[in-house]
Amino acid sequence: MAKAAKKTRPRVVKTVKALRETLADWKKRKADIALVPTMGALHAGHISLVALAKKSAKKVVVSIFVNPTQFGPNEDFSRYPRTFDADMDKLADAGADLVFMPDAKEMYPEDFSTMLKPTGPASVGLDDKFRPGHFDGVATVVAKLFTSVMPDVAIFGEKDYQQLQVIKTMARDLHLPVKVVGAPVVREKDGLALSSRNVYLSPPERTAAPVLHQVLKESAKAIAAGEPVEAVLSRGRAKIMAANFKLDYLEARDANSLAKPDAQRKAKLRLLVAAKIGKTRLIDNVAV
Ligand code: AMP
Repeated sequence: MAKAAKKTRPRVVKTVKALRETLADWKKRKADIALVPTMGALHAGHISLVALAKKSAKKVVVSIFVNPTQFGPNEDFSRYPRTFDADMDKLADAGADLVFMPDAKEMYPEDFSTMLKPTGPASVGLDDKFRPGHFDGVATVVAKLFTSVMPDVAIFGEKDYQQLQVIKTMARDLHLPVKVVGAPVVREKDGLALSSRNVYLSPPERTAAPVLHQVLKESAKAIAAGEPVEAVLSRGRAKIMAANFKLDYLEARDANSLAKPDAQRKAKLRLLVAAKIGKTRLIDNVAV
């Protein structure tokens, strides 16, 4: 059988100056631009964002930057997977036009002095509570990516649901003229949300991991059927802990603000979970 022709890898630029030179040329030709920010170690979840970006704009920029300011001191920054060659092949197949891959000094020179401090959905007692400073790092780097690329649209996964709400709010608050779009979670057949961190899972941990999505699905169904939210969540928490997870949270929140829902439950709900198995912290969420 004939081998499929290898697609050309997208161009990689490492500085904001080189990035802006390419973008200026596109903008002169009135091409609209979509941005997909990533930390690399790309999987089908990331590629689904690139596919949506291609439908949304003429040119697609993917950024790959393992952002040090969003990792805590005891988190996995130094061991975070870095898979440049595989990433480039996937981006070639997906049809990305340009990759922005700065080094840490380009994004944070030694005298860097301007960190954002988001509140609102960034201070609701979910990941913000367990990863202090995380969303400061996320909001800062994404604001810098937005002002560097000036995309018309930026695509983020609902996998990181709190992050998506933080970025939507940040872009609105800073009047950044970018449409922030959320894309659905891509999952393994057994329901486990794809994540660059899944490679850390040992075989028994990988076997246990789908319980998070199972609990989310069961809980969403029970809440939609009218069961009291707290009773459903208690049952779900017990099931996750029985599967050897250390649970950070399983919560039902207002789907936009991420605040605790009001008693009448008029707002749309989102169920969010974060839990550690061994050394690996997994997050997931579903709509109710
Ligand atoms: P990361 O490289 O983990 O920072 O993720 C980059 C982008 O890909 C973020 O917008 C994530 O929400 C998104 N993403 C990661 N995993 C998935 C997934 N399983 N499905 C959809 N989007 C995802």
